Amino acid sequence: MKIICIGRNYKEHVKELNNKLPDNPLFFLKPDTALLRNNNPFFIPEFSSEIHYEVELILKINRLGKTIQPKFAHRYFDSIGIGIDFTARDIQKQCIEKGLPWELAKAFDYSAAISKFLPKSNFSNLDEISFRLDINGKSVQLGNTSKMIFSFDDIISYVSRFITFRTGDIIFSGTPAGVGPVKIGDRLQAYIEEKLMLDFFIK
Ligand code: MG
Repeated sequence: MKIICIGRNYKEHVKELNNKLPDNPLFFLKPDTALLRNNNPFFIPEFSSEIHYEVELILKINRLGKTIQPKFAHRYFDSIGIGIDFTARDIQKQCIEKGLPWELAKAFDYSAAISKFLPKSNFSNLDEISFRLDINGKSVQLGNTSKMIFSFDDIISYVSRFITFRTGDIIFSGTPAGVGPVKIGDRLQAYIEEKLMLDFFIK
């Protein structure tokens, strides 16, 4: 499986990192070795001194798809979860300055923490899903899908022009404002609506 991550999909987050609003969904990949599951702890890697959390809603692809029209995109995912796109922000800044790819900053081992998935049918309106990240009991990121620049359907349609989706692929749909560094001992708790979905420690 592969993990497809959307960058710059919430306006306030684009602003906080002084980036330009994208004309099309910006995406990058993480390999399956990036997965961190079962609320296992995240160990800060030695190569970065600025690992950021980015809480994001995630989608699980449930069928093979290529060049999917937006109006059919909803048929290609049936469950929603939440994840943390761990980012080596210090390295990413260097990559951006030098015009280099982002893999060093984004695709490292265990950089994609994921929750279990909820059936899409649990949600009455996919365009109004709220989610948040608490660190040590304090809310640091509040998101709502109504604020996405590109909808789930837009994302699936656009990415599928370039890359075939397979069953089991996961999409990280972008992070709202409020990203910041993690430190050893932090407790991360991510919620969809009021349901606790992720609960793990930084080590
Ligand atoms: Mg992200």
